Amino acid sequence: MQPLRAVKGMNDVLPGDVARWRRVEQTFERISAGYGFEEVRTPIVEPTALFVRSIGDTTDIVEKEMYSFVDKGKDALTLRPEGTASAVRAFIQHTVYARSPVTKWSYKGPMYRRERPAKGRYRQFYQLGAEVFGDPGPHVDAELIEMLVRFLTELGARDVEVRINSLGSGETRKRYRDALVAYLTPHKEALSADSQRRLDLNPLRVIDSKAPQDQEIARGAPSILDHLGDDDRVHFDELRASLEALGVPHVVDHTIVRGLDYYSRTLFEVKGRGGQLGAQDTICGGGRYDRLVEELGGPTTPAIGFAIGIERLLMIMDDAPAADRQGIFVLSASPELRRDALVLLRDLRAGGLMADGDFRGNSLKSQMRRADKARAALVMILGEDEIAQKSVQVRDLQAKSQEAVPRDAIVAHALGALGGAA
Ligand code: ATP
Ligand code: MG
Repeated sequence: MQPLRAVKGMNDVLPGDVARWRRVEQTFERISAGYGFEEVRTPIVEPTALFVRSIGDTTDIVEKEMYSFVDKGKDALTLRPEGTASAVRAFIQHTVYARSPVTKWSYKGPMYRRERPAKGRYRQFYQLGAEVFGDPGPHVDAELIEMLVRFLTELGARDVEVRINSLGSGETRKRYRDALVAYLTPHKEALSADSQRRLDLNPLRVIDSKAPQDQEIARGAPSILDHLGDDDRVHFDELRASLEALGVPHVVDHTIVRGLDYYSRTLFEVKGRGGQLGAQDTICGGGRYDRLVEELGGPTTPAIGFAIGIERLLMIMDDAPAADRQGIFVLSASPELRRDALVLLRDLRAGGLMADGDFRGNSLKSQMRRADKARAALVMILGEDEIAQKSVQVRDLQAKSQEAVPRDAIVAHALGALGGAA
């Protein structure tokens, strides 16, 4: 029979790689908690309307990429393509805004987009995200970007660059929109079909397009930074001054407009410059979305957030130092001793130790090879003599020593040898 394969663009993470994933997730948990964030967990499936209304129906995500389906109860559902919409929905649904003026949430988990798979671009991918509700910035914007940089630095992410921009708000957006339409209209014929269609509906989308012919034209587009109103300008200048004060290097890039409808004012991206990422060089995207909570039916609440793609981050971070030997491997010299090995393993594990063994009846030599492969720190050998003497041979693979230890003192001995943290 032809073996089944995973869905195209969806990947397994095998145990050998999980340690790196854990390092990323645990570092994010620790750092975000240190900045006052609490983790929220929302469903992977949401009403389709949530994403259409928040991300916007002229975006690639909504037009082409969502895994949407009608379930047996005829509900229109979608596998979440990103995390912010769900966080906002939960924030409103549980009247979280009534509990505290500022709410800081982090999240992690799989996202789904039916894109064309490529290096760094998958149909199921994982994001780490953070959202701050209730603070209009700009200082919290700087703090969030500083947290992001601290996180990336701690993981040894190489050659990354923070790029920032402002999309302005209200009037600024309208003025810029008009300027953009005026610039793009004479180029209309040269734009991609998607961009031609979106030119009137949402010209910002054209600037964000990945089609090469659109990017060429986008390069000459007017800068939104030349159109900022006074308040937007003050916000952006203070963000920059705060980043300076925090010592966060950044570059201003007026071509960052990002693909989602809900952004206003502060926008930022982290890009990898080292070339390891290929064409998919954006590790993190974020920005302010001051009107989204209101648009989804909540009270007016300014907010800002970001999302990091874990797979891309893994491509540029350094390797953790190789793990030391750890735990115990139990060897038994003959089939008659397997039950003793089983009981010994039970006792070690009950004592809080990490232990494994081999019951298949192989030679001591082959069991020893498994112990070595498992990178055990201690090997315990059960032989007829040891059973008769109520003892266990304990070999310390790091200290390269061996001794007989009384069976009834074995757990205490192992805890001592492994420093309790086996
Ligand atoms: P891209 O520029 O790659 O299209 P995007 O603007 O669509 O990214 P966001 O929606 O802002 O991305 O998501 C934030 C981050 O999630 C991205 O910077 C990236 O690291 C990651 N990401 C987005 N889409 C994918 C994907 N299909 N596969 C892997 N990672 C992804
Ligand atoms: Mg994309």
